[in-house]
Amino acid sequence: MQLTLFVEAVYLVAAVLFIFSLAGLSKQESARRGSVLGMIGMGLALAATLVLSLRDSEKPVFVTLLLIVLALLIGAGIGVWRARTVEMTQMPELIAMFHSFVGLAAVLVGYDSFLTERASVVGYTEVYLGVFIGAVTFTGSIIAYLKLAAKIKSAPLTLPARNLINLGILVLSAALMVWFLAAPSIWPLAIMTVLALLLGLHLVAAIGGGDMPVVVSMLNSYSGWAAAAAGFMLSNNLLIITGALVGSSGAILSYLMCKAMNRKFMSVILGGFGQKTSTSSKSQDLGDYSEVKAPEAAELLKNAKSVVIAPGYGMAVAKAQYSVADLVSKLRARGVEVRFAVHPVAGRLPGHMNVLLAEAKVPYDIVLEMDEINDDFPDTDVVIVIGANDTVNPAAENDPDSPIAGMPVLKVWEAKKVIVIKRSMGVGYAGVQNPLFFNDNTSMLFGDAKAVVDQLLQDL
Ligand code: NDP
Repeated sequence: MQLTLFVEAVYLVAAVLFIFSLAGLSKQESARRGSVLGMIGMGLALAATLVLSLRDSEKPVFVTLLLIVLALLIGAGIGVWRARTVEMTQMPELIAMFHSFVGLAAVLVGYDSFLTERASVVGYTEVYLGVFIGAVTFTGSIIAYLKLAAKIKSAPLTLPARNLINLGILVLSAALMVWFLAAPSIWPLAIMTVLALLLGLHLVAAIGGGDMPVVVSMLNSYSGWAAAAAGFMLSNNLLIITGALVGSSGAILSYLMCKAMNRKFMSVILGGFGQKTSTSSKSQDLGDYSEVKAPEAAELLKNAKSVVIAPGYGMAVAKAQYSVADLVSKLRARGVEVRFAVHPVAGRLPGHMNVLLAEAKVPYDIVLEMDEINDDFPDTDVVIVIGANDTVNPAAENDPDSPIAGMPVLKVWEAKKVIVIKRSMGVGYAGVQNPLFFNDNTSMLFGDAKAVVDQLLQDL
């Protein structure tokens, strides 16, 4: 009894640490502390659970201990290896894969609870819902992973009656739940599991690659609810709290991403929307563009008083952040005021640019969010756009027919001079041409972002 109370107390401390961890992660300055607090919380939670498992073990203690340590070593080994080898740009697919594990775990816990425990109606409801959410999360996350890793085509699967299929599965699952609760047996549970696996598969297959990061964040939320359901089944308060934290923060993140991309949340989740590419903008004749070479661009930078850098996905692909950080130091040493303008969805995952810039040790106080800097462009001498495209596209504001119409963007075109570093006149993520490149005050500086910035550094 005393041990149980002690473990519950440790769980409570871990839960509080998780909450502080989330609070810390919301700001760059405190993100490192947030991660550390989260790790301490998870360490405490694992230790407490280990102690409980050993006490309640039906097998000899050393066998249980050996099995758990073995599982920990294998899991931690794979985790460390993946974390070390993954590229920042592959992060969304890695996260998708992790979510599939949480979904699978919830299904397994559900079946284990059903087969080994004599449950009440409440218990059976927990089992049923846990297995349902877990199964949807499992296959949905696998499809999301395959799409993001380009192992299957990312175009949406738009079956003619897709909404009806989803609705049909939901209604059938509800009917099976009534059967399951009235006469608990493996049959309704097993049939529902197959249906839920199909639902996850179909739901995510129906969503275009373009909306996949929002879907991953939504699956993150589902995996949280699946973990919470597992927590109810295992009567584990910490798992319930952690699951609820993940579930709600994932949902909030999905909402914020949709807002920043001007997508309707329901359209993204129901699939088949938002993948249109504007052929009109693509083929539109936007006139001539002007080109600049690195020495000339360096000259412009030397003579500027204020410079704003707008980084995007191309900076991540080129791994140019370290060179960019050197460029910033060099300009600042010459007395030029340099700041960064970071769009909320620049790159391929929320906070992508912030992480890269922090990695390259760019001071936090010069990295500004879109809302903090968008009014400053008219007073800026030179803007350098590095591998960004959609997030600096004025069509979002001026062209109501554009697929990105209504998406808030960085108003870089209001600066006195804009230099765009990218490899070609190619389109960005949304597949639309960018009128910014054809403005009189814009010059294109073609090349790989890292190579070009290195060249600028030499010329400065
Ligand atoms: P974009 O994806 O719009 O454009 C990136 C540009 O980088 C391309 O036009 C490409 O042009 C250029 N590029 C690629 N490789 C290199 C390289 N090695 N060197 C130099 N340039 C390169 O980038 P943004 O960051 O502006 O926009 C992000 C997009 O991603 C938005 O549409 C957003 O909605 C979407 N998105 C973002 C999410 C997030 O959470 N951050 C989630 C989901 C979607 P070129 O080929 O000519 O070099």
